[in-house]
Amino acid sequence: MAKHQRGQRLLPESEVEEAFRRLKSHMPGRTATAKGPKDQPDPFRSVVSCILSAQSLDRNTAAATNALFALVKTPDELLALPDEAVAQAIRPCGLYNMKTRNLKALCRTLIDEHERVVPQTREELMRLPGVGRKCADIVMSFTFDADVIAVDTHVNRVANRIGITDEATADRTAQALETRAPAWAQRDGHFWLIQFGKAVCKSQRPRCETCFLNDLCLFFSASKVVVTEAVS
Ligand code: SF4
Repeated sequence: MAKHQRGQRLLPESEVEEAFRRLKSHMPGRTATAKGPKDQPDPFRSVVSCILSAQSLDRNTAAATNALFALVKTPDELLALPDEAVAQAIRPCGLYNMKTRNLKALCRTLIDEHERVVPQTREELMRLPGVGRKCADIVMSFTFDADVIAVDTHVNRVANRIGITDEATADRTAQALETRAPAWAQRDGHFWLIQFGKAVCKSQRPRCETCFLNDLCLFFSASKVVVTEAVS
């Protein structure tokens, strides 16, 4: 298959709109049970959980977050807890020494620069130690209820397979979705794409033959070209 140039493998705007219309009608979207991350209503706990989730399975992140918040509830309490105790509590999520340093720096910054209150803008969130674009967008979307399409591994895979975006990294996909997704899809887009990625457009063995987007999808049309070329 010929390697495409980035920026040339994109659906036209009208088909992106149609793809989101279908996703909306097939996927549940932002439901009462679609909480995060991951079920953390308190902004401080939400940011901490996000930092702990780096390269960690959801269940390990939850175990680490629960263990840590059994010991502390506030930035001051976390800062006062010895590093060894923090590392021990968050051990299940891996990279615990680096994450301990980030958590301590996060608390110091919240206390010194934000009056102990987690900021709500992307720019401010991304200036917090250990917080990148994905983490900032997840906190904005889930905790502050903002209309933001947070991009995790599922959203990144699906958006780029379909041709809604054509980007090499999740952060660039998130940036592209700000303009490529219609305004009405910004609120629930994250949920539709992630639900679709888990149920249909799976990482391994996507269900292309029965997929309700296969007449639009650039990944599917490219794979048919490859099969046709192989048999001819
Ligand atoms: S056709 Fe296949 S690759 Fe394309 S969106 Fe559907 S499941 Fe994903």
